[in-house]
Amino acid sequence: MSTSGTVGGGKYDVVVIGGGPAGYVGAIRAAQNGLRAACIDAWENRDGQPAFGGTCLNAGCIPSKALLESSELFHRAGSEFALHGIRVNPPELDLSAMQARKARIVSQFSSGIQELFKANGVTGLVGRGHLLPGNKVRYTPRGGKPELLEAEHVVLATGSTPIELPFARFDGEAIVDSWGGLDLAAVPGRLGVIGGGVIGLELGSIWSRLGSQVTVLEAMDRFLFMVDGQIAKDAQRQLKKQGLDIRLGAKVTSAERGPNGVALTYEDQRGRHSVEVDRLIVAVGRRPNTEGLLDPLAGVKLSDRGLIEVDAECRASAPNVWAVGDVVRGPMLAHKGSEEGVMVADLIAGRYGHVNYAVIPSVIYTTPEIAWVGQTEEQLKEARIDYKVGTFNFAASGRARAMEQAAGLVKVLASTADDRILGVHIVGPMAGELIGEAVVAMEFQATAEDLQRTIHAHPSLTEALHEAALSVDRRSLHAINR
Ligand code: NAD
Repeated sequence: MSTSGTVGGGKYDVVVIGGGPAGYVGAIRAAQNGLRAACIDAWENRDGQPAFGGTCLNAGCIPSKALLESSELFHRAGSEFALHGIRVNPPELDLSAMQARKARIVSQFSSGIQELFKANGVTGLVGRGHLLPGNKVRYTPRGGKPELLEAEHVVLATGSTPIELPFARFDGEAIVDSWGGLDLAAVPGRLGVIGGGVIGLELGSIWSRLGSQVTVLEAMDRFLFMVDGQIAKDAQRQLKKQGLDIRLGAKVTSAERGPNGVALTYEDQRGRHSVEVDRLIVAVGRRPNTEGLLDPLAGVKLSDRGLIEVDAECRASAPNVWAVGDVVRGPMLAHKGSEEGVMVADLIAGRYGHVNYAVIPSVIYTTPEIAWVGQTEEQLKEARIDYKVGTFNFAASGRARAMEQAAGLVKVLASTADDRILGVHIVGPMAGELIGEAVVAMEFQATAEDLQRTIHAHPSLTEALHEAALSVDRRSLHAINR
């Protein structure tokens, strides 16, 4: 472990470029490991203020969860409270107060990162970083002149940006990206969403609950192709019931702005169709941010898809250069990026570092939530792995019924050969929290029997996972074993 750098001289052991969940977490861990660490970030919020935390904190995970919570409460107040015997006048929406709450949460978390930097001894640098040959970084402070930083190791963590469709350019008004889709100042009467992926469904849900008629146009024929088929089918049915108009196999070919909003044309198996919407959110995936990041002589290779090429431990193709998070292969998930940041900071310090790519949880924060870890039934079939299936419906969960959220199911897939849990898939209440138990179980290579013999509190939603594990061996206690 080197300690050659000095902060004052612009020399560091580790310079991280990018201050999102991969970069800022990596910088904190590097400092905890006794390394002199700096983290450069260029993010500016709409008010022109710089902020650490990247897309996740400023324009993604955190603000979307704030609005998902608020819009869900609004919706339930209007549609469900009466069932509980609570009479309210039709609830009234104060969207600007809702947005202000969201903004407060975001700004608290962003200043929290600065405090964590201070407490751990990370130097936070506001501005742009550019990798030069020989592990030098050109740092251009916001509004200032470029400086040269020397680093023993450089970690690239510049994240990703929404993909723009050539025929539907973002204009910040009628056609917006996912950030713009969180910042709408009024509820659109008719909202169009191109892309029925994670972002499309989460943003579509928010505005649908607040009163928009939402149409989601998804090019693929299969709903949520990455989700276990049985779970995806159940989720699709539930979202449809809520009023989301999800059109599959719908490839959008044009989006014309006009006085009445945006006229969309799409093609499906039956021909060409048009839809008119007031606002359009484009959520067709994200691309890695590498523009202006790399000197051609720095020796860092990119893949065909523009991702920084790395090995299993996130080493890029130049010596002592590493890359983590959305800018490298693997799912674009904040927690995957953070774990890569930690692994790299530990490896640089000469410690043990590892990311278990086979056990990364995914969550889609619709209502009900959709969450999974490990392999789907389709993947196991394709890989010709023999498996057992256990399921349990939330309809038989006392806690879910009391919560008025008794739709959905838990599904456990276990190896026929040795009972090891191969995948857990949930659509239902708090699925994003419940999946944590499955992640721990799989991390410890648990079998279905291990979960069967683990005591779960009653009444709790976790019992659904317990029962699904019992069902793997047709030993369910609160469902009929078939
Ligand atoms: P995505 O890849 O999840 O979904 C994009 C969808 O757009 C795909 O289903 C694709 O088939 C469709 N599409 C592409 N071109 C189209 C066209 N012309 N017409 C119709 N449909 C089209 O991407 P996303 O939803 O933009 O999210 C980006 C990334 O951010 C993903 O990797 C996602 O995992 C991540 N993310 C995660 C969370 C979470 O963990 N809860 C939340 C938001 C984003």
